[in-house]
Amino acid sequence: MKKAIYPGSFDPITFGHLDIIKRASNIFDELTILVLTNVRKTPLFSADERVKILEEVTKDMPNVKVGCFDGLLVDYAKKNDVHVVIRGLRAITDFEYELQTAQTNRLLSQGSLDTMFLTTSLEYAYLSSTTVKEIASFGGDISKCVPDFVAQMIFTKYGVVKNEQ
Ligand code: ADP
Repeated sequence: MKKAIYPGSFDPITFGHLDIIKRASNIFDELTILVLTNVRKTPLFSADERVKILEEVTKDMPNVKVGCFDGLLVDYAKKNDVHVVIRGLRAITDFEYELQTAQTNRLLSQGSLDTMFLTTSLEYAYLSSTTVKEIASFGGDISKCVPDFVAQMIFTKYGVVKNEQ
């Protein structure tokens, strides 16, 4: 069985992430989306909330699972016998960090964990969780960025009252 993991903060999931999830789940027999605790970021949503959101948006994708992990990715991969990491690439600005992480994972796993990059669909090339949160914090329209119920949850976090969303 061909298995892969798609790790990230997903704080919150955007249509850009969802696009990568759909495409990766068509390539692999089983895809696990892994919510990681990123020490460099202070999340808007707790890990539990992010897992629940991901479970909801992927409920119609039978070969997609959702998990949560706060250790080294290589340890998770070894324990679960996974050898492929999926990451999305939007622009050249993503590249340096992604390359470094991919090389580090290969090194730490003694070559058993490879990273496969899927390039963003052009309509989502501009989309990031950070941008979504920034727009939402000012009460802007994020309906083209995230599913409706996620938009509602983000506005609630920021105390923004939106009746039309
Ligand atoms: P991290 O904090 O690990 O960077 P993110 O949740 O921001 O996690 O992103 C997870 C993965 O999804 C990363 O590989 C990122 O490049 C990718 N990604 C984020 N937004 C998009 C998008 N709009 N299109 C394609 N890939 C994306």
